[in-house]
Amino acid sequence: MGEIAPSLGIHVTVLAETLDDAAVATCDEVVLGSPKDPLALERLARLVEVVTFDHELVDLAHLRTLEDSGVVVRPSAHALSFAVDKAHQRQAFRDAQIPVPRFLVVSSAHDQRIEPFLEELTGPPVLKAARGGYDGRGVLFPSTRDETLSLISEMTTSGQVVIEERLALHGEVAQLIARSVDGQMSIYPLVTTVQANGMCIEVDFPALATNELNERAHELGEQIASLIGAVGVLAVEFFIAPEGLVVNEVALRPHNSGHWTIEGTRTSQFANHLLCVCGEEPGDVTTLASCAVMVNVVGSEQPGSFVDAQAVEGAYVHDYGKSWRPDRKLGHVTVLGDNRESAHVRAWESAIAYGTRTREV
Ligand code: ADP
Repeated sequence: MGEIAPSLGIHVTVLAETLDDAAVATCDEVVLGSPKDPLALERLARLVEVVTFDHELVDLAHLRTLEDSGVVVRPSAHALSFAVDKAHQRQAFRDAQIPVPRFLVVSSAHDQRIEPFLEELTGPPVLKAARGGYDGRGVLFPSTRDETLSLISEMTTSGQVVIEERLALHGEVAQLIARSVDGQMSIYPLVTTVQANGMCIEVDFPALATNELNERAHELGEQIASLIGAVGVLAVEFFIAPEGLVVNEVALRPHNSGHWTIEGTRTSQFANHLLCVCGEEPGDVTTLASCAVMVNVVGSEQPGSFVDAQAVEGAYVHDYGKSWRPDRKLGHVTVLGDNRESAHVRAWESAIAYGTRTREV
């Protein structure tokens, strides 16, 4: 967002915990402090016209206090609660008849509903910390009943746990929407996301999905955006399950599944997020190539070469300026083209030259 803001005439002040936070490199002003510290939030709020977010590790109560004192927070604490709290998201979506996996929310391993719920499932569940997880952290895949129960016991010591049916996935797709304050929406095309160890490693446009699935994802995305009152970018991650599309999670910020839009669409997700939270209408999201492949650079043991990564024909290489650490998302590469296979080969060639971890998918 910091890279595109100057061309939109937007001045960015970042609340960062340290000066080497990646966002500091591109912003106009910095407030040092934690997003969970109410005083730091107040210092930030005094300097800006609108507060927005690039992650959801935030304290909703502090954000509500800011809102109550007249600070403009977009998306609102109400909208953010669907991204911050998986238990709330699952319950609210089920109530609105939006498809989600079968689930049970518990606060204690002694909850009497756990055994009958596990009995209903055909295999072991997935366990998710209701709050605080990202990139697969806080999501566990036990293999036996004993392991399931002991993990529930451990996880409930730090908050609510969502026990969820493990679906047989045919794939995963993501729908990005930019929504203005008055509800105008620009709908990006659906993309396929490829995961390894709970972390997204690749995004492909167009999605490997039928026309019906594309339409259903657009429809559900619009329904969700209106239901939660999203402002800015909303990303909805879906599972493709035997029963059709099932919502996995939502994010109310520029999202990993939309990094390809920097080069691949007329208005990127970053520009659209800023436009919408600043009260403008979302821009045109027409695509600029018939396909795009984005590969995340996830740190392997040793860094590779940025120069070699850039030397791959057609590769747009982005370095987030973070210190190199194995398993950390450090950058990404996008290749646009007419041919999915050759874009895929070149994007991986570039990411591997950069030092990405290669994994079995
Ligand atoms: P995070 O919030 O850390 O991104 P997710 O909830 O998206 O975690 O889960 C990470 C990955 O784990 C998903 O992308 C998917 O591959 C797998 N997963 C999560 N929930 C389920 C489920 N109910 N059934 C099957 N696979 C799942």
